[in-house]
Amino acid sequence: MIGIVVVSHSARLAEGVKELADGMTQVEIPIAAAGGVDDPENPLGTDGIRVLEAIHEVMSDEGVLIFADLGSAKLSADMAIDLLEPEEQEKVKFCDAPLVEGVLAAAVQIASGGKLADVMREAQEAGAVTAPEAEMADTDAAAAKDDSDAKAEEFVIRNRHGLHARPASLLVQTMNGFDGDIRLENLTKGKKPVNAKSINGIMLSAVTGNDRVRLTASPQEADAVFAAMRRLVEDNFGEDDEMPAEAPAPSKPAPSKAQAASSPGTSEAPEATDTLTGITIAPGFALGPLHHVRQEMPKIEVAAIDDLDAEIARFDKALQDAEAEIEAAMQAMGEGLSDYDRQIFSAHITYLHDPEITGGVRERIRSEKLGAASIWQETMSDLADTYSGLEDKLLQGRAADIVDVGQRVLRFLIGDEAASALPDEPAILAFHELRPSDVLRLADTSVLGICSAVGGETSHAGILASNLSIPVVFSLGEGLNAVKDGQKVLLDGGKARLDLGPDPDDIARMERDRAAFEALRAEAEAAKDLAAETKDGHLVRAAANMAALEELTAVADSGAEEIGLMRTEFLFMDRDAAPDEDEQTEIYKRIIAGLKGKPLTVRTMDIGGDKPVAYMDRPAEENPNLGWRGLRYSLDETALFDTQLAAILRASAEGPVRIMFPMVSTLEELRAAKDRLEAVRDRLGKAGQPFDDKLEIGIMIEVPAAAEMADRLAPEVDFFSIGTNDLTQYMMAADRANPKVQKLSDPLQPAVLRMVARTIAAAHEAGIWIGMCGAMAGNRLAAPILLGLGLDEFSMKPVDIGTFKLTVRRLAKPACEDLAAEVLKLDGAEAVRKRVAAFLDDIETD
Ligand code: PEP
Ligand code: MG
Repeated sequence: MIGIVVVSHSARLAEGVKELADGMTQVEIPIAAAGGVDDPENPLGTDGIRVLEAIHEVMSDEGVLIFADLGSAKLSADMAIDLLEPEEQEKVKFCDAPLVEGVLAAAVQIASGGKLADVMREAQEAGAVTAPEAEMADTDAAAAKDDSDAKAEEFVIRNRHGLHARPASLLVQTMNGFDGDIRLENLTKGKKPVNAKSINGIMLSAVTGNDRVRLTASPQEADAVFAAMRRLVEDNFGEDDEMPAEAPAPSKPAPSKAQAASSPGTSEAPEATDTLTGITIAPGFALGPLHHVRQEMPKIEVAAIDDLDAEIARFDKALQDAEAEIEAAMQAMGEGLSDYDRQIFSAHITYLHDPEITGGVRERIRSEKLGAASIWQETMSDLADTYSGLEDKLLQGRAADIVDVGQRVLRFLIGDEAASALPDEPAILAFHELRPSDVLRLADTSVLGICSAVGGETSHAGILASNLSIPVVFSLGEGLNAVKDGQKVLLDGGKARLDLGPDPDDIARMERDRAAFEALRAEAEAAKDLAAETKDGHLVRAAANMAALEELTAVADSGAEEIGLMRTEFLFMDRDAAPDEDEQTEIYKRIIAGLKGKPLTVRTMDIGGDKPVAYMDRPAEENPNLGWRGLRYSLDETALFDTQLAAILRASAEGPVRIMFPMVSTLEELRAAKDRLEAVRDRLGKAGQPFDDKLEIGIMIEVPAAAEMADRLAPEVDFFSIGTNDLTQYMMAADRANPKVQKLSDPLQPAVLRMVARTIAAAHEAGIWIGMCGAMAGNRLAAPILLGLGLDEFSMKPVDIGTFKLTVRRLAKPACEDLAAEVLKLDGAEAVRKRVAAFLDDIETD
């Protein structure tokens, strides 16, 4: 027969529940009570070993159901289940139902011969009926009244991703405007009703698009509550991405992010070699102790507390301080913070007010007489684990937010040193993966440099970190974990190297390089606002690449004459849903305003390839770089594409804007894209929306097929921009992100140079201008070649503009033309590199 285990903080309560259940049935059910702990002074608590013994006492082939009273009782139950043999674990289930009602319902079902799954469902349903009252009593005494006359209304949630972080936060904020108890129940997924003022409750209800939910409120407030909910639902919680009715899309596996590494600085990590190599995020040099920044919740000593009121006051103060810190960080970022980031930080604040989370902690401080820090740590760690274990990729991603909020509060509870692990002394910080919120925390600290085990050049955090004016290197690999805290290391941002044991010679060489680097930086700073003009008066345009709103200040200060590439896919990444037309328009407008009349080239989204977007439900691809990316994807996902085109056009009313299409491979694609643009123009025109109807239309040349067809493509556009990052990877059949083939993936390969040369010639033949926005455009060695080939615009990272202008101003066009003709005929990239280095040396010494 199925057995029952009753876990309670009180031994007497556990026995009482057992007694009650025994009396409910004619047959004897195997029930074991596992209450209290073996401590005569403090008998209240739960003990995993006692639960384990109870499981064994009632274990049979038909299985065991465990019921528990308060939150930490579940932890003891989980621990006991973990300790079982795997074949036993399959038969033991934790039943998330209120203790008394759940056990009684289960006992009755078991007595009538139900199977484990049926018994569990019955128990949960018995709990669901009474759950609102039970939880209400816990969290809001004022609302603890008979709600048998409560009113209910059902709603269908239509935004594709349902009540994920942002809509959940909006819902909580709205519901907090009412006094009484409000419950939300996900009927579609059969979840228990939850407190609609708890962001956690709502998130864990896992409401996705087309789910039906029921809202319950007191008769006094019901009409107003339902009207507010109706407004939210009708407005799709402020999101555009609506679900087609009755047709929920099956979620497809999204490419998974790198998992968290083993604890840094421990012996379990792989052996460290002498030097680790990664990718450059920002150049520069740093020498100092390495310091691992913990990104998981630290272990906290459990402390017994006497003055419970004082401890609760301390906890409340920590919550307030954490909130004030988030507000201050948002304030400090000012205009630089995108609306989306703002919403994420607001969601962090909502967690700090969540009655289920914070109320649960206060209640446990009182009942367990333990310090707030360990209870908060346990609560937030469990919560992060719960989120990580959910199927929904977006909800999984929220685990990082929980850890972030959790650490922040801990810092105020136990002090900076133990919780956040930011050192007092200047140090080189090592992260597993840098998060945008980490960068915000670092802005005012004395950090010498940053490195990380994983992370990409174009990640949001990478973009933010590259503006800190310190060396930053990502993707050093798991070997970074093996480096001991405090070990003296040398970080070379430009070479993307971390030297783990620099000797005096290395340090002396680095000091020389640093002096030269600083001198060049100062010279470049002085030259950044001059014209990019050769000695003999040939003028080119120096433009900046941009990939996040946060870069606007860096771009505006860089000396760039325009933005030659705005990578818009970053508007879609690191978030839960696509920005709608208004949000995108606003972002483009903010950038246009910041540019004060300088042109902005907006590249339509290049989703796919190395830029996956989890919420877009894209299939996993064998070869994403050769797959459904760039314009190919946009032309299939027309609603997304049209939204973006409309937003760019609307913004074009405010200042000079160009549109550029990425990953064009054929003439048909280009024509299809232009047709869509035309249709959107028509729609906006009819709606009386102003836009620039003369805006330039261009394409990126980054697929060899497009370069070969450049003569046919050129007459149909206003400009080309060569994307050498992709063009090189496709030309050389060498993955741009694979360090093993970096030698091949080199734009100075003569094969690539020849293709670039032919493309420039084709553009000029057709009378259009041509730029370059791949990384080659900011490469000092490429500058004389590209000038010689006649490139009109060079678009690069903002920090490279000054150096680029310095280089150009030392060159003469005819000599560059000769050099270009010469290097096109060389054997390989190394030969090209050597030849150009000698050419530049000659100029220096002239
Ligand atoms: C390129 O491919 O060179 C380019 C500029 O585009 P992205 O790096 O965004 O793919
Ligand atoms: Mg590209």
